[in-house]
Amino acid sequence: MKCKKCPQKAVIKIPRANAAFCPEHFNEFFYKQTEKGIEDFRMLSKEDRTMVCVSGGKDSLVLWHVLSELGYDVTGMYIDLGIPGYSDRSKERVNTFAVRRGLKIITVDLKELGYAVPDVAKSAKRQDCSVCGTIKRYYFNKIAYDYNFDAVATGHNLDDESSRLLGNLLHWSEEYLPGMSPVLPAEGKMMKKKVKPLIRLTEKETAAFCIVNGIDYIMEECPMSRGATSLVYKDALNRIEDDMPGTAHYFYFQYFKKAKKWFSVPDRKGEGDTTLCESCGMETFTDKCSFCRLVEKMNEQS
Ligand SMILES: [Zn+2]
Ligand SMILES: [Zn+2]
Repeated sequence: MKCKKCPQKAVIKIPRANAAFCPEHFNEFFYKQTEKGIEDFRMLSKEDRTMVCVSGGKDSLVLWHVLSELGYDVTGMYIDLGIPGYSDRSKERVNTFAVRRGLKIITVDLKELGYAVPDVAKSAKRQDCSVCGTIKRYYFNKIAYDYNFDAVATGHNLDDESSRLLGNLLHWSEEYLPGMSPVLPAEGKMMKKKVKPLIRLTEKETAAFCIVNGIDYIMEECPMSRGATSLVYKDALNRIEDDMPGTAHYFYFQYFKKAKKWFSVPDRKGEGDTTLCESCGMETFTDKCSFCRLVEKMNEQS
């Protein structure tokens, strides 16, 4: 198999683009796709102070690397979830990555704050993944606000977002559809713009990018996410993609052209405007933010 652009041997095949590339031209493809995603959805400008949420996994490290190589003003933000073993190993990857490239990083240590995910989930009698999601979203917003960033970038890729769209459509979850966009504008005074620059690239491609560019990431999935339903949709879409390359891309991007108009009014259950959380002072759509409600529940039970 030869590279589509030069006589070199190809190292990766990209059926949906009907192409195969050598390492050099794969990188070129990867950077171009990232830039196209950013431009098409007007996600970021080079002047934006951007916080990149990093977990130590491939997607977030690749995003951090690519945005900094493209000349964006990026700072990494890592949340130590306090999951025994897994968190130590992921933190080590993130720190090594940052030091080697001289990148700035902010770390939030949940254990130190008294909110280690397994402990909160246990005391609040809630599922680990939902607790993790609530806490992460809260700190993404809070740190971005505290440090005055313009945008928050996450490493979600085409597989993540097309399978999430599929799941939401299968259940006609109208309430989640407005939030499906790869760019969410800033809301109120405290909630910063959220962007997903890797939206045109797949999981397989970010993994290949790591190999080609020597990025050492944590391969194990979070031990608490096993059996998540999102993996079922991802698997189903991957099987369709194997038979009909390009389907996931078409399904996802045509949604914005053809169907988003039907689902674009965010319905915050009639509450509309934001207010400040009576307990922590962060902006929220309810009297008390979901993070503070979770902490309250945790304290009640213990
Ligand atoms: Zn080539
Ligand atoms: Zn609060």
